[in-house]
Amino acid sequence: MTDCLFCKMVNQAIPVDKVFEDERVLAFRDINPKAPTHILVIPKQHVATLNDLQDPSLAGHLLQTVAQIAASEGIADTGYRTVINCNAAGGQEVYHLHLHLLGGRQMSWPAG
Ligand code: AMP
Ligand code: ZN
Repeated sequence: MTDCLFCKMVNQAIPVDKVFEDERVLAFRDINPKAPTHILVIPKQHVATLNDLQDPSLAGHLLQTVAQIAASEGIADTGYRTVINCNAAGGQEVYHLHLHLLGGRQMSWPAG
């Protein structure tokens, strides 16, 4: 989608602070980090929300990528949080599916 911010990142029309990339996913640092480690993992294909994710293989790959990046960032053992905000009440602001990887500090619960 040409008017999607994260598609523009995939297409290199907007620069990103890239952490990881393969043929299906891209991971980059959040521009407004909410934790010492705050990385977004996105599918390269446009998927608007979690409700639109129909490929179980892609879903699994996104989760495995989060865990691999947590390990490479050194927060796998201490712990981290993965968040998917879905639609307005879920707090979604960018309508291209993304998994937040947050770590490097103690998380509170319940999430706000
Ligand atoms: P969400 O509220 O789940 O849709 O989260 C969208 C996230 O995208 C927020 O954490 C933003 O800080 C982040 N974000 C927005 N624009 C950019 C950008 N240009 N580069 C990196 N992260 C961004
Ligand atoms: Zn998109």
